[in-house]
Amino acid sequence: IMVCAGTGCLSSNSQKVKEQLLEEINKRHLADKVEIVKTGCFGFCELGPVVVIHPGAYFYCRIQPEDVQDIFDNHIEKGQAVQRLLYKNPTTHEITETMDENKFFHPQTRIALRNCGIINPEKMDEYIARDGYRALAKVLMEMTPSEVVKTVRDSELRGRGGAGFLTGRKWAFTAAVKQDYKYVVCNADEGDPGAFMDRSILEGDPHAVLEAMAIAGYAVGASEGYIYVRAEYPIAVARLEKAIEEATQKGLLGENILGSGFNFTVEIRLGAGAFVCGEETALLRSVTGQRGEPRSRPPYPAVQGLWDKPTLLNNVETYANIPQIILQGPQWYASIGTEGSKGTKIFSLAGKINNTGLIEVPMGTTLRTIVYEIGGGIPQGKSFKAIQTGGPSGGCLPAEHLDKPIDYESLTEIGSMMGSGGLIVMDESDCMVDIARFYLEFTQDESCGKCTPCRIGTKRLLEIVNRITEGNGKLEDLEILEELGHDIQEASLCGLGQTAPNPVLSTLHYFREEFITHIQDKR
Ligand code: SF4
Repeated sequence: IMVCAGTGCLSSNSQKVKEQLLEEINKRHLADKVEIVKTGCFGFCELGPVVVIHPGAYFYCRIQPEDVQDIFDNHIEKGQAVQRLLYKNPTTHEITETMDENKFFHPQTRIALRNCGIINPEKMDEYIARDGYRALAKVLMEMTPSEVVKTVRDSELRGRGGAGFLTGRKWAFTAAVKQDYKYVVCNADEGDPGAFMDRSILEGDPHAVLEAMAIAGYAVGASEGYIYVRAEYPIAVARLEKAIEEATQKGLLGENILGSGFNFTVEIRLGAGAFVCGEETALLRSVTGQRGEPRSRPPYPAVQGLWDKPTLLNNVETYANIPQIILQGPQWYASIGTEGSKGTKIFSLAGKINNTGLIEVPMGTTLRTIVYEIGGGIPQGKSFKAIQTGGPSGGCLPAEHLDKPIDYESLTEIGSMMGSGGLIVMDESDCMVDIARFYLEFTQDESCGKCTPCRIGTKRLLEIVNRITEGNGKLEDLEILEELGHDIQEASLCGLGQTAPNPVLSTLHYFREEFITHIQDKR
């Protein structure tokens, strides 16, 4: 019996459910027949606490301690699934028994999430049983560092943190710099509202990230790694700490890994929740204890990063793909996705959507498949109005783009961006001006204040949007918003400022009439 112990399910009582399941096993003397496995997130967070029973992967949802006896009386003792506790489609009311039949899971391809909801993240043996650390063994025993870099390059994996830079090129730059000491860093400072991809990987499969960081260290010539993770992710931090300790004890981190002579250690650094620390130069400063402020580039971190040494920086999801790329080969990975964006992407689905949760789909999947098939459509029969992709740095896309296959290029073409993968759905009752104001308020608040276009420009933008929503706007304000927005994009120092006007500009582009209604109706 698998019980989800991700943050979502724990917050809806899964620990109590697990205790009740254990009590029932003991009461019925089934300890030699039934085992409880505490797993990471299954992804279907809307339906927590989630319990999955094998064989068959029967998918039980919203389980409470008082449901446990029924599950044992019928499913465990008699082999009859308890219909009332299985997943029921909110629109069709159809009951789905197993995960395989479930339309939320069925269209997904899980590479970075392959172990989430499958293994106990606190037991390294379970990771090893799913091919864990085999990729590290392979690179140490059979490959040269440059072969590893080439493999990652050939896979055409792009950085999943937002910018989409080719991961293999980054590795090659860092590997090429001749220096006595280098570092490998993992960016786990996920700060977009509504995004929880990295948190779920760290909670559900921490060893995959550690293994990938060690592989990266071998490839670029680094022997020290740091994971910069938000302090607001206590479960992820605790599981990472445990994983580092266990991997070190078993000789998979530390000195002379697997007798290869390669040394690699990993330490955790906690971030204090500043959105700007997701920007690479600000993050690196914060790791060394300085104020998290971006600096201009070049020099790039690959040349001058942590303590001025060459540093390779990737985010959690990027690393989580690496072990499978090594084991299954770059051609396998590059065969998934679109021409310019290979592999899969994890998205967190939030907002006005039936199936809130975490999904992983091949690049090129349409928004319609995500919203209506996997996401189960809009609650209460309302109609779809827009979807915000790319978090506060992205844009709001209307229904006309639902059939667009999404990848890095296509989202940029239509005025938004991939970002780290947050998707927030709006329905017919949402005011798009308010939505734009919400995101702008967030980025304005998170601006570090170092450069004037972002510090002052976002404040002026917000004042104008506030004026409009309070009924005091003028039609000329719309031109000022556009002009100022473009100036901020052009002149800001880092990605936060360069993308902060995106929600306002995309909303003005697609939903201009809503701004005009606010102005003309004085409301
Ligand atoms: Fe700071 Fe904004 Fe300038 Fe980035 S763009 S350095 S967040 S003020």
